[in-house]
Amino acid sequence: MTTQRFYLDHNATTPLRPAAREAMLDALDATGNASSVHAEGRAARALVETAREKVAALVGGRARNVVFTSGATEALNLALRPDWRIGPQGGHFELLLASATEHVAALEGHAFGRRVEILPVDRSGRLDLAALGTTLAGYAGARVMVCLQAANNETGVLQPVAEAAEQVHAAGGLLVCDAVQAAGRIACSFETTGADMLVLSSHKTGGPMGAGALVLRDAALHCDRPLIRGGGQERGFRAGTENVAAIAGFGAAAAEAAASRDAEAARIARLRDAFEAGLAHVAPGAVVFGQGAPRLPNTSAFAIPGPSAEILLMAFDLAGVALSSGSACSSGKVKRSHVLAAMGTAPEIAAGALRVSFGWTSADQDVAAVLDVLAAILARIGRKQATSRAKTAASP
Ligand code: PLP
Repeated sequence: MTTQRFYLDHNATTPLRPAAREAMLDALDATGNASSVHAEGRAARALVETAREKVAALVGGRARNVVFTSGATEALNLALRPDWRIGPQGGHFELLLASATEHVAALEGHAFGRRVEILPVDRSGRLDLAALGTTLAGYAGARVMVCLQAANNETGVLQPVAEAAEQVHAAGGLLVCDAVQAAGRIACSFETTGADMLVLSSHKTGGPMGAGALVLRDAALHCDRPLIRGGGQERGFRAGTENVAAIAGFGAAAAEAAASRDAEAARIARLRDAFEAGLAHVAPGAVVFGQGAPRLPNTSAFAIPGPSAEILLMAFDLAGVALSSGSACSSGKVKRSHVLAAMGTAPEIAAGALRVSFGWTSADQDVAAVLDVLAAILARIGRKQATSRAKTAASP
């Protein structure tokens, strides 16, 4: 007998959209290297360029400023390098400022070595804008790059990116925004964020894994020493033969996510709210992280005092519910969340943190399933505790 599965881990990866699958299958059947000049090569190039337009449209950018990569991790590694210049006269960057809740792909993937300062967040996980201002003032005259995500992958909390961008630009700096979790889910563009570079991931929008993009606001942005060198692809920003099928799938997913965004955001927010209302009922002691702050409509990160996340995750999985604890990119092993630590969450609460994240395949039955399973798990834990208390009381 197979257990019915309920997938509630869209922030880790969202299932492939049928339109993306179709675009990929068509591309896989095509022959030709997108750099070749013959008809087959031009056909592959057309698929890449169509996808480029769709990805650019997702964030209100220009197609020619989209650099396709193998994913957002690579895009962050490419963006967060000192070697960028704004125009031919501009100098390289001397310092990176990053919020404490950035993804590890940014915190560990940058190329600034020790020239990094981590900016604090408040208890809800939002960047401390006053600390940003003070830090920028402390480095007046230096060329500073700032990395700030649009939405946090663990909590869904939205960062004040536009306000941060204003400060960064006033100080002559450049803002890189990790838009991986926000793009396609809420309005997230160059206009709404004020960012100079946006980082995107295909598989968070319903495209395949293994594709992503760094989108530049301005064609004047130039990197003297890109991460992957050796060929002229992607305007010299990223050498290597393009993964045409993955890029085509990314483009199709981006177009669909953009077209359905607002209706889906409202539908999914209702599921998330129903989940949180049910959670308060099933586990009255539960804490929802960042609940009072602006959040993505799809994410609920919570902890129930007592059981560890590891035990709960396994129990949910056995009962057919896939959810996550902390950052799913480091899943397989439950380790303490740097995001919750930066928010000042007590370690014993953080140890039980779980994340439910909804997406385009989610429906009412997913909410019902996760709440039913949670109630059953908590009842089981309660019975075990009562038995062991009774045994202790009965022992001489
Ligand atoms: N940034 C954020 C906020 C993420 O959530 C993730 C993945 O979970 C990444 C970057 C890395 O994305 P990718 O899997 O495309 O490398």
